[in-house]
Amino acid sequence: MITRFAPSPTGPLHLGHAYSAILAHDMARAAGGRFLLRIEDIDRQRSRPEWEAQIYDDLAWLGLTWKEPVMRQSDRLNIYRQTLAELWENDLLYRCSCTRRDIEAATSAPQEGVSLGPDGLIYPGTCRESGARTAGEPLPDAVLRLYMDRAAAHCSFDEIGEAHCGTHSITPEQMIQNVGDIVLARRDMGTSYHLSVVLDDAAQGITHVVRGEDLFDATQIHVTLQKLLKLSTPTYCHHNLIRDNNGKRLAKRDDARAIAKYRAEGATPADIRRLVGL
Ligand code: GLU
Repeated sequence: MITRFAPSPTGPLHLGHAYSAILAHDMARAAGGRFLLRIEDIDRQRSRPEWEAQIYDDLAWLGLTWKEPVMRQSDRLNIYRQTLAELWENDLLYRCSCTRRDIEAATSAPQEGVSLGPDGLIYPGTCRESGARTAGEPLPDAVLRLYMDRAAAHCSFDEIGEAHCGTHSITPEQMIQNVGDIVLARRDMGTSYHLSVVLDDAAQGITHVVRGEDLFDATQIHVTLQKLLKLSTPTYCHHNLIRDNNGKRLAKRDDARAIAKYRAEGATPADIRRLVGL
């Protein structure tokens, strides 16, 4: 078994992150497997070296150990671009020049209603024809969307997390209707969370993806991309989210639940385990 913890260094780790990291670590250890760390720093605007340093520090304080080397997404941009180039050459991607407002205007036509997918508004397809690759055109530095109707195939994944335990099948129709033409390359990143996470989990040989429930809906996208890119599909374990006293899920900006804050107040790693119910 190989598990991973894949935080983004865009803020302090809070109790929800501690829960994910400890679960993934303990699962691998109980199975005699490996626990790996990956720094998801493709968002160059929001990622900071000091948050990355704090991640290592907090995890070590929690008593977690991981097998080196740590993978960093910012070191892998050429790998993401190479995969995008292949998809582009196979006419699976198109250039999109819509702003968020264009998409909102096109999707809020009264007869259509607003359709939300796991990735936000379902793209109405405006640029599908105008953004198509012309013969011989190299991968552009632009927003690139996936032609979902060309990319989706029947696939399935196993989930072992409590809330959605079982085998889930995915149909192309469901991907086209409920997810649509997702962005695989953002202009500011040159890639996207979905593409990078799929390539990285495969490159690290992850067998069990342990992460929060909030990413369950994104899993159909990841599994569809795995099938398209001929990568194997890991088992997924989406755990329940740690909520604050008002039942609201914790966000990075809620510094109140930051591990660093508990540490500063004298909590022990055993207290953190207890707080997250482990
Ligand atoms: N980097 C993501 C986050 O910090 C997690 C991605 C994943 O576990 O797939 O929310």
